[in-house]
Amino acid sequence: MATQVLPDTDTRPDATDSTGDDSPKMFHYVKKSKIAESAVLGNMVVALCGETFPVTRSPKPGSPVCPDCKKIYESLPPGGGS
Ligand SMILES: [Zn+2]
Repeated sequence: MATQVLPDTDTRPDATDSTGDDSPKMFHYVKKSKIAESAVLGNMVVALCGETFPVTRSPKPGSPVCPDCKKIYESLPPGGGS
C-alpha cells in the first residue's frame, strides 16, 4: 500500500524555495484543520516541524517528505491522541 494514511495530518509542499523552479521540493506534514483554515482565511499554515508556508501549491509527486516532519509525525500517538 503506497498511500500514506495520516489520521489528522496531510502533506503539503515547502513553498519557501525560490530557485525559479515552481515545483516544491519537499512535503511537510500539516494538520488538516490548519489547511482548511488557511483555505478560508488565506493565511500561512504551520507544519509539524514549525515550517510556515502558504497553501497555494500542489504537492509534486515523488517529492521527499521533510525529515523533521516525518520524525515528529512518527512520534505522535496513533489516532492523534485528541
Ligand atoms: Zn517539515
